[in-house]
Amino acid sequence: MQILLSPEDLADGVDRLAREIRRDYDGRPLSIVGVLTGSIVFVADLIRRLDGPVRLHMIQASSYRGTATSPGRLDLRLDLLPDLDGQDVLLVDDIFDTGRTLEAIVAELRRRGAASVKSLVLFRKQGRAEVAIEPDYVGFDIPDAFVVGYGLDYDGCWRQLPHVASLDASELATPRADFLQPCRLP
Ligand code: 5GP
Ligand code: MG
Repeated sequence: MQILLSPEDLADGVDRLAREIRRDYDGRPLSIVGVLTGSIVFVADLIRRLDGPVRLHMIQASSYRGTATSPGRLDLRLDLLPDLDGQDVLLVDDIFDTGRTLEAIVAELRRRGAASVKSLVLFRKQGRAEVAIEPDYVGFDIPDAFVVGYGLDYDGCWRQLPHVASLDASELATPRADFLQPCRLP
């Protein structure tokens, strides 16, 4: 594991994103839609830096299964989402990789009657996009590596790290890697 971003780097990035949102929404009520599970730490930090009325809703999206690090079929669960009629919605996700997750969720939020839908991601991976849309706000552009920590997992592990680290190919090549042992459930 190699540390890509320290807790201080992450805090600076979240500060900057919060400043941009405060500037653009200027105290207007904002409905944040966070994407479980990877964005949970980030969303918690972000909303505490906003002023003005904020609502928070969570949905679930998953396209990774277990130790696979390439996207599979996208599974969206929106059952916790209320009616968004007329609301200004900000979708918050952890990573923009191929962009397929963001594209699908933005389309669904528009379909549900939001007055406006913007998107914000903590990370965007370089050279991976497969869609025409771009996120409206980006925390960090990162290299095309698999990353964990600050909410992001590998096979359910490492969400609790306060920093973000990349896993190298040899770590990912070991299906039951030693470094996952501490996370194994009985
Ligand atoms: P996309 O649909 O943009 O290809 O994939 C986005 C989703 O894949 C992210 O929300 C995230 O859940 C997952 N993902 C993409 N890259 C990584 C990564 O490097 N590490 C982790 N833990 N998840 C990733
Ligand atoms: Mg995700």
